[in-house]
Amino acid sequence: NLSSLPNDKNALQNKVILVTGAGDGIGRQAALTYAEYGAEVILLGRTVKKLEAVYDEIVKAGGKEPAIIPLDMNGATVKNYQDMAATIEMEFGRLDGLLNNASILACLNPVEFITEDSFDKVMKVNFKATFFLTQALLPVLKKAENPSIIFTSSGVGKKGRAFWGEYAFSKFATEGLMETMADEYGHTHMRVNAINPGATKTKMRAKAYPGEDVEKLKTPLDLMPGYVYLMSDESKEVNGQSIDLQPK
Ligand code: NDP
Repeated sequence: NLSSLPNDKNALQNKVILVTGAGDGIGRQAALTYAEYGAEVILLGRTVKKLEAVYDEIVKAGGKEPAIIPLDMNGATVKNYQDMAATIEMEFGRLDGLLNNASILACLNPVEFITEDSFDKVMKVNFKATFFLTQALLPVLKKAENPSIIFTSSGVGKKGRAFWGEYAFSKFATEGLMETMADEYGHTHMRVNAINPGATKTKMRAKAYPGEDVEKLKTPLDLMPGYVYLMSDESKEVNGQSIDLQPK
């Protein structure tokens, strides 16, 4: 159900879920909500202080004790992801869910002015690192009963828009990755989908639209029904979908 949270507070009981970019914005809220519905969450992000704050909030609310993985996806190597996967396998024996949420937004810029440095950074964090992290985790995801992988897309990952440059390219690439993986794993017990959260009140949104009235925006909490649905067994037959949480 995309419009309301499940009544069953155990909807994610016994699930181990890794969230990238779990320290702020939508990822932070997803980690809190997943823990509220019974999951053991693994908080991955680059700012340890923010991850610790989310950890404290989860424990204070009575959730299962989370794990923290401090990692800068701009600097991390494939080996770092493989080591991380081995640690998760050792600690938990499986991974039930992966929410690929971390992303960065560069300056909005006409294509003529996109620099190589900005292109590399945005494509690395939003796409390359997201892919190799996911690839490294496949063996441990396959060990779960109903594993779910969620990628995070955007409106500009489906229809290009002036000045969204390398951020838009990275989201188109993410959609392609999701579709490729969904087709490859469609016959297995693993599902792969994408979420486009739509305009949401976070720091990233404020950077892109500094002047707007933020009170009109949805909050990360408003989006949680979709994020919980795609992680819960309720969606176990859903594969290869790019779900727009705020359709026009
Ligand atoms: P925020 O900028 O609020 O949060 C992004 C999170 O990703 C932060 O916790 C950030 O860490 C983390 N992150 C960024 N770079 C790295 C890195 N190199 N390594 C590890 N973690 C990193 O963004 P939102 O919550 O708004 O966005 C979440 C997702 O939703 C993104 O994929 C975004 O593209 C997508 N989206 C958002 C929309 C919106 O309106 N907000 C609309 C459409 C899509 P830190 O806090 O340390 O910087």
